[in-house]
Amino acid sequence: MKICIIGTGYVGLVTGTCLADFGLSVTCVDQDKNKISLLNSGGVPIYEPNLAPLIEKNISAGRLTFTTDLKKAVEQSKVIFIAVGTPPNDDGSANIDQIEKVAQQIASSMNEYKVIVNKSTVPIGTAAKIKEIINKYQTLSLRATEGSAAIPSSVIAREQSDRSNPGLNRRTGVSPVYDVIARSEATRQSQPTSKPIDFDIVSNPEFLREGSAVYDFTHPDKIVIGTTSDRALKIMQEIYRPLYLIDTPFVITNPETAELIKYACNAFLATKITFINEIANLCDKVGADVHQIAKAMGLDGRISPKFLHPGPGYGGSCFPKDTEALYHFASTCGYDFKLLKGVISANIRQRELMVEKIKHHLGDLNGKTIAILGLAFKQNTDDIRESPSIDIIKLLLKEEAKIKCFDPLAMDNTRKILPSLTYCQDEYETVEHCDALVIATEWNQFRNLDLTKIKKLLKSPILLDLRNLYEPATLKSLGFIYEGVGRK
Ligand code: NAD
Repeated sequence: MKICIIGTGYVGLVTGTCLADFGLSVTCVDQDKNKISLLNSGGVPIYEPNLAPLIEKNISAGRLTFTTDLKKAVEQSKVIFIAVGTPPNDDGSANIDQIEKVAQQIASSMNEYKVIVNKSTVPIGTAAKIKEIINKYQTLSLRATEGSAAIPSSVIAREQSDRSNPGLNRRTGVSPVYDVIARSEATRQSQPTSKPIDFDIVSNPEFLREGSAVYDFTHPDKIVIGTTSDRALKIMQEIYRPLYLIDTPFVITNPETAELIKYACNAFLATKITFINEIANLCDKVGADVHQIAKAMGLDGRISPKFLHPGPGYGGSCFPKDTEALYHFASTCGYDFKLLKGVISANIRQRELMVEKIKHHLGDLNGKTIAILGLAFKQNTDDIRESPSIDIIKLLLKEEAKIKCFDPLAMDNTRKILPSLTYCQDEYETVEHCDALVIATEWNQFRNLDLTKIKKLLKSPILLDLRNLYEPATLKSLGFIYEGVGRK
């Protein structure tokens, strides 16, 4: 079965590569020419563990190709996945312009039955909207093919010239008989059918996490398929057969429910993170240890230990935008989602509280130099979208602090938006002559720093551990002024 993925970003590239690895023939499409030529020359535009070798393996096997030619890719494929961005509008609602544009492009490229699968995270009702757009643009293009627009203008010009001379065309020297054949051929090619081409829509939200995207795609907790078509459902089950064989649960539902499942999952996880952050902030006030609390909470089978790690607040390309989008969507339905409103504002405050911690130890930040370890929104990714570290750096810059920083993967991306920072080669160069060290991302390599060396290099031994990578007692015994989040 031939598959086409429109949008070759984090989701599209991982989905396309993993489906190719399932044995399917996949074409990944993107409008970004640089991205496609990088992929076609053996490069990979994003960092994800194990992604590069999997791409290489499937290109070599002839199952994975990259192109900017959306029309051709759609024509050749039975199933079209949409994996374009759904960034936030200024009011927090999800912007689905990219989805709508792709739906139009698909409509004008359809040549036979297609299953159109939306993988992007979208407001409830988007599957219906995609269907409406495709129906509308198919009807428009059929009308166009029924009219003279179907006939190339060169043929029409020749025909008009021939009316005045039924013999040989004086200007072109072409026989009118030849022109009639050309005209009927042009009409036949551009009018392949007189009725709209059949298609089905599926909502198939994606739950992969950046930093472990390949693993998550191939070992998902669930596959959600939202469709009203049995034909499309069978095709989707065939695509995901390798996951069915390893007992992955399938949730089969309607498109609206599938769309809301994605938002409900992300909003719930953001709420869980925010909840433990709020408990950590309370611990800071009363001297309790949030790790002990999280451990005890996690031992309760109803709660589970996941997503109970306190820190500078959730970030990344999904949680902030999806919580905002769900809150906004609920408002448009006349529902005030009070819990989510609290989560969103608590998460913004969490960044500010981290800066307060730094100021508590350093006082006026004007002229102080702060070492920041970690720029990515979490470890194992180069993605800095909505990264807590970046937000905190921006707040520190507002207070006139100077920043030296290091991240194993995210420095190139950060340089593009914050060129004035001092970018260092490693952790030790970063801390040299700094007034404090702030650990902002939980990279494994920051867990085993040579602390004696760090202490010697720092101007003053202040360590603010926003990811709680170290034991407070150990750090204090080494002579550090140490503070984590919810434990001192
Ligand atoms: P991304 O920005 O990394 O990639 C989107 C790609 O789509 C870009 O390369 C862009 O050039 C391309 N594109 C846009 N319009 C196009 C068009 N008309 N034709 C061809 N290409 C086009 O986005 P992403 O992070 O992969 O996210 C995609 C969607 O998946 C979003 O809705 C997001 O919320 C959702 N999602 C993301 C993640 C994640 O971890 N990143 C996880 C689950 C779901």
